[in-house]
Parts: sequence; C-alpha cells; structure tokens
Amino acid sequence: MQATYTIIVPLFNEEEVVQECYQRLVNTLVPLNEPFEILFVNDGSKDRTAEIVHQICQKDSCVKLIEFARNFGHQIAISAGFDHANGKAVIVIDADLQDPPEAMIPMMERWKQGYDVVYGKRIHRKGETWFKKITAALFYRFLNRMTNIQIPVDVGDFRLIDRKVCLYLRRLPEKHRYVRGLISWLGFKQTYVEYIREKRFAGETKYPLRKMIKLAFDAITSFSIKPLRLATFMGAFFSLGGVIYLAIVFWQTLVQQSTVPGWASLIAINLIFSGVTLLILGIIGEYVGRIYEEVKGRPLYVICNTVGIHESTTITKDHTSIE
Ligand code: UDP
Ligand code: MG
Repeated sequence: MQATYTIIVPLFNEEEVVQECYQRLVNTLVPLNEPFEILFVNDGSKDRTAEIVHQICQKDSCVKLIEFARNFGHQIAISAGFDHANGKAVIVIDADLQDPPEAMIPMMERWKQGYDVVYGKRIHRKGETWFKKITAALFYRFLNRMTNIQIPVDVGDFRLIDRKVCLYLRRLPEKHRYVRGLISWLGFKQTYVEYIREKRFAGETKYPLRKMIKLAFDAITSFSIKPLRLATFMGAFFSLGGVIYLAIVFWQTLVQQSTVPGWASLIAINLIFSGVTLLILGIIGEYVGRIYEEVKGRPLYVICNTVGIHESTTITKDHTSIE
C-alpha cells in the first residue's frame, strides 16, 4: 500500500535523540489516521544510532532504514531519502527535534489545499549561538543577491514536497547539492508555514563551521557564476588604478623631478596583485573542481544496508515517467 506521507529523517551520531524523535513523530502521525512511513537515513553514524533504529524497525513496520557506508553529508542523506520515498507527500525533518513534528500538520493542510511545496519558515530560533544566527541571516541574503532564482530566506530543509516534485528531484544528478535551492529551482506551487525553531533536544550540532562553509560554497557555486565575474571586475578596477598611478609617477618624474626609490610602492602593488590573482585562481579552481566531480559520474552515495526498503519502490534516476 502506498503511504500518504513519507517522513525522511537524516541521522548522524544522533543516539541521544533518535528514540524521542521517533516517539514524537508517531504521536503526531498516528492520530491522522493516514498511512505513513518514517524513513531514517543513517549517514555513517559512529555511535549507537543504527542499533537503536534497528530495534525500532523490529517493533514498527512503518519505520524504514537506509544505512550509508560512510558519512556522505546531510544534503546527500536527504537526497537518498527522496530516492526511496514511497509517500504521496514527502516531509524532511531534522532528528534533533529543532523542527517540531507538530508543525507538519499545517504543512499537510496546505498540501491538501493544492500546494506542491510547503516549506517551514523560522520566525524565531531558540538555543542557537548568535554566531550561527548572524551568519545564517547574512548568508541567505547574500545568496539571494548572487543567484538568479529566488531561494526563500530563513528557511531550512524542513519542508513537505509533493510526490511529483520528489520525482523531479531524483532526476537532478548533481553531486554538490543544495537541496532547498534545487527545490526552488524546480518551481511548482510553493508556500510556507511559520514555526519556531526549538532548542536541540540533546547532543550537539552536527554542523560544525567546516560543514557550514561547505554548504555555503555548494549553494553559491550551484546556482551562480557571479563569483567568476569577480575576476573581470577586479581586473578592470586594478588596471584603471594602475593607469592612474602611472600618470602620477610620470608627473613626479617629469614635472616635480622628485622620484624616490619607490620600492615600497612596488612591493605594495606586487602584493595586491598576487593576492588578487591567487583569489581569482582559487575561485576558478572551485568551479573546475566541481566540474571534475560531476564528470567522474560516481554515485551520490553508497548504501551498505537497508531495512524495509523493497527494490521495487526504489526508483532510480533513469526512470522517465512522472506520475
Ligand atoms: N546530519 C547528517 N549528516 C551530517 C550532518 C548532519 O545526516 O553530516 C543530520 C543530523 O543528524 C540532523 C540534521 O542533519 O538530523 C541537522 O543537523 P544538525 O541538527 O546538527 O544541524 P543544525 O540544526 O545545528 O544546523
Ligand atoms: Mg539541529
């Protein structure tokens, strides 16, 4: 039987929260009286997460599990969830209960009203550092300036998508994924519900600064080539500066006849130009690296074990029909 709802929960070292997460999800979903499945994606956890999910799976056949062979990252874990989701509507939610499961109810109502994508918009973030709040707020606004598609601000991956959006997502093969951007890119009828982002139930964030920077890079380079244009602008700017400076030097030599042995200015200019060259090379390198990753054509993730997943429900990328 096809489930009405598939709830995708990515897990990375979440032994402290996974049981509570399951309980809260079930408490929210059972009263709805509609068939659902909870799809845990274990993203290479090194703690007891998998063990706990296996126990839950044994007791409850609505719970399914995909286990990655190693840590592939949050965005890839979500993508694997989309690849294996069976429901008519698919919801992505964090395991740590920062996205309250109860907020899924208004999302479902919106879906029933005919919306294809319902994302959760955080009107308030509890228990997160000011550093995370500020960098996140700045990042979303910067991203919107850099890209040509409108990616809503202050919105995470907590959202409901209709099956048809999910089937299209499966056909986007890129390796560096910024899932919320991809969903915006797809279009469809989108709306949002507001919610308050809670404190993490237990454990600590699995998004250290390193992963945040990676996500930011993936987001910008997936949806914009504006950083490459920086080279052109900087080149133009500095050449103009060079020409003006040359005029000043000529003036000093010919009119004032006061040229000093100007090695300080030479060094300064040298440093600026090598700095700019390296920066631009780095940006170009980022894009070339990404092209290389795509060209290799490796699978997005490697699954080492599943529970409750049947091959027939696993529609791979090369399927062509959209329901
Ligand atoms: N996560 C994952 N793989 C990772 C990092 C995180 O699957 O490499 C999962 C994590 O278990 C959680 C969700 O992604 O369910 C969001 O992570 P977290 O709550 O640590 O991020 P934050 O809320 O601090 O941004
Ligand atoms: Mg969290």
